Amino acid sequence: MAKVHNFSAGPCILPQEVFQQAAAAVINFDDLNLSILEISHRSPSFVKVMDEARELVKKLLEVPEGYTVLFLQGGASTGFLMSAYNMLSEGGTAAYVNTGTWAKKAIKEAKLLGNVNVVASSEDQNFNYIPKGFEVPSDADYLHLTSNNTIFGTQYKEFPSVDVPVICDMSSDIFSRKVNVADFDIIYAGAQKNLGPAGTTLYIVKDEILGRNERSIPSMLDFKVHADKDSMFNTPPVYPVYVSMLNMRYMLKAGGVEAMQRKANERASMLYTEIDESPLFEGVAAVEDRSQMNVTFVLTDDSKKEEFDLLWNQANVSGLKGHRSVGGYRASMYNALEVSSVEALVNAMKKLRS
Ligand SMILES: *Cc1c(COP(=O)(O)O)cnc(C)c1O
Repeated sequence: MAKVHNFSAGPCILPQEVFQQAAAAVINFDDLNLSILEISHRSPSFVKVMDEARELVKKLLEVPEGYTVLFLQGGASTGFLMSAYNMLSEGGTAAYVNTGTWAKKAIKEAKLLGNVNVVASSEDQNFNYIPKGFEVPSDADYLHLTSNNTIFGTQYKEFPSVDVPVICDMSSDIFSRKVNVADFDIIYAGAQKNLGPAGTTLYIVKDEILGRNERSIPSMLDFKVHADKDSMFNTPPVYPVYVSMLNMRYMLKAGGVEAMQRKANERASMLYTEIDESPLFEGVAAVEDRSQMNVTFVLTDDSKKEEFDLLWNQANVSGLKGHRSVGGYRASMYNALEVSSVEALVNAMKKLRS
């Protein structure tokens, strides 16, 4: 079978090696002659997996002392609510930067719990840039950011430096570049973009905030409840955690986050170069805020659409359709995407102008 170049925005590509190991564990896990799908989450074999997964996060992201790593359920969409529940005080105000669809959803959830001050927004230009130079009131409970805007193709190159705690949704660029974890009180990420399969959400939470908010928090949304039980307050998503662990082992072996970042630079510069050099394509995002993970672009001449769609389909490129709120094309290039896949796409783009 011909290789499919998977540019899907999420759930997305994972390394073949990880798929093979994951498949084997469905039949026989840890030489138990049992499937990973049928063992207890309290069995020593799985407790070991959970411990290793948490350790790998710490190693890959150089998480400093004083932080707890959790693997929970509910997706980043639950993270929107959960982070507000744990950080927004009764009567307090939270600051949000509105950089697109996901940020908006986070704002909506926080509004259920208190006052939201949208301190900056790029909605005036359909979210094609990252707002900069804004002020955050010093009495805000926190500032919420979205590090990479999956749909619009923008990404913070530098995070704003502020005096209040920072919460960041890193769903679509975690493990693709170095971050200074100490700058954040909560980092969260749905697994299915850069970490593993859908079904688990990674949280990196500063210990200081655990149990600090005086409002009453439902157990499943309370970081302290989960931290006290080592992510095993209820049945954890055993298989997604296992596959995420395998993928983190793979990333570590491949050179860790630094190697992922080099590869991301290489992929992105190859694709953006063609977008900029070709008279037939135009990037959507402001050049200085371009995402290395999700590249959004449009045709300058719509009459070429049929021809281009045929070319990339013939090249076995998959998942290139843009999100309905942006149109055009979106190439999502997560960690496991090989540079050769980007070459295949760029060759199809070159053929269009030859
Ligand atoms: C995909 C995505 C989400 C939504 O994640 P779910 O796990 O589906 O809830 C949130 N934020 C960002 C930045 C995303 O890319």
